[in-house]
This record gives sequence, structure tokens and C-alpha cells, in this order.
Amino acid sequence: QITVGVLALQGGVIEHISLLQKAAAQLSSQSSTPTPQFSFIQVRTAAQLSQCDALIIPGGESTTMAIVARRLGLLDPLREFVKVQHKPTWGTCAGLVMLASAASATKQGGQELIGGLDVKVLRNRYGTQLQSFVGDLRLPFLEEGEPFRGVFIRAPVVEEIITTTAGDDEVTKLKGNLVEVMGTYPKPQGTGEGDDIVAVRQGNVFGTSFHPELTDDVRIHTWWLKQVVEGLKSGGRDVQAQS
Ligand code: GLN
Repeated sequence: QITVGVLALQGGVIEHISLLQKAAAQLSSQSSTPTPQFSFIQVRTAAQLSQCDALIIPGGESTTMAIVARRLGLLDPLREFVKVQHKPTWGTCAGLVMLASAASATKQGGQELIGGLDVKVLRNRYGTQLQSFVGDLRLPFLEEGEPFRGVFIRAPVVEEIITTTAGDDEVTKLKGNLVEVMGTYPKPQGTGEGDDIVAVRQGNVFGTSFHPELTDDVRIHTWWLKQVVEGLKSGGRDVQAQS
């Protein structure tokens, strides 16, 4: 039995759980060998977090999420979960912000983050709520098929992959994993050349700028659950080394 938690302080919790359930069903129908049983739980306490083998941090509002997590005494257990235990964690939108080691366009004094991804994110890259959009994404880690409909709502992007000084950084030292770009999207007109980074992975930590849980496309959830299962089979440490 594999327990996957969704951090339930604020934001799109139910949507993730519902797609995870569909993804688990799809995984078992695709596989010729028996797949593990999953249980999906909402996480609001350190005790609930400690039951989890993997975690999703949903979209919402990252400053609020950090303040609530701090009040509930969850911030340090979350850091431990991601950066010491190296359990598979996926952040969507505000969740990606929480998993970054630095964020710009934050209020003065900054905001508390969990970290785990050695990147700097730019919050609200596309502007306000009114500038929300749906964009077609080609995500190389998904098998060929229709483009993925990326829902971007006050979305962050990864503006910098922080290069680590030789072996000094906690994550690099422990895991030897570098940040991998998993998805890009063309920069909006007038904001520079080339593409923005909208999906990254570093070891067991995965982040997307957009909200797959707000579509009925189950492909990323299925892919991620598969990574979780493979990672646990190999001793639960490093998803990246498996693929
Ligand atoms: N703009 C929000 C933040 O910075 C994220 C928005 C979202 O999760 N849809 O936390």
C-alpha cells in the first residue's frame, strides 16, 4: 500500500485527489502485473505527513500556504520530508513556488519556502488573474499524443536554475541530482526571446507552473504515480536514477 498525500492547507486539493484516483485506476488497467494499492489522504498535520510515501503540494497562494504551514508546525516537517527523506514531491503552481529554493516578485521581506528544487522562480509571471490562459504544451516525458492543455493561473515560471557550487549544496551533495527541464512554453510577446521553463525535476522533486488537476487529462498524474512506484521499488530514494 502506497500512501500519497495532498497538502490540504489551501488551494486545489480535491481536484488533485480526484485525478490521482483516476490515475491509479489507469495505472492498474495498463499494467500486466499487479500494481500497488494506493491510498490518497489530505495532509494538515505532521502526523498525517509522516504516513505519506509521496506528496503533492497544490496550487493556491504560496504566501498564505507558508504562513498557515508555519502556524501548524508543518514547515519544518515538510522540509524534512522533501530534503532529508527525499520522498517524491510534486508542486503545482503555488506548490512549485514552495518547492523552489528562491522566489522573486515576493513581498518585501520575502516568504518562507520549503525548497528542494535548486531554482529561483518568478511569481505571477503572466500578470494578474485576468491574464490566466490555457496553452498547449509539448511535454517530452509524456508519450506521444495530444498536446497537454496547460492551465496557467497567476503562474510562476522558473527564471533561473541556480548552479551549485561543487558539492556544497545540500541536495546536490546528498543526491548528485541536477535540475532537469521537463517542459517549456514560449515567452509571451514583448517579454523576451525564447521559452520559459514551466516544468522541472530534481531527483524526487517535481514542479509544474500549470495546473494539470484543473483538466481531466490524467497523463501527468499517471506518469508521476508511476515514478513514485518505481522509486519505492528501488528503495525509495531516487526516482531520477530509475528512468
Ligand atoms: N500566484 C500564486 C503564488 O505565487 C500561485 C497561483 C496558483 O497557484 N494558481 O503563490
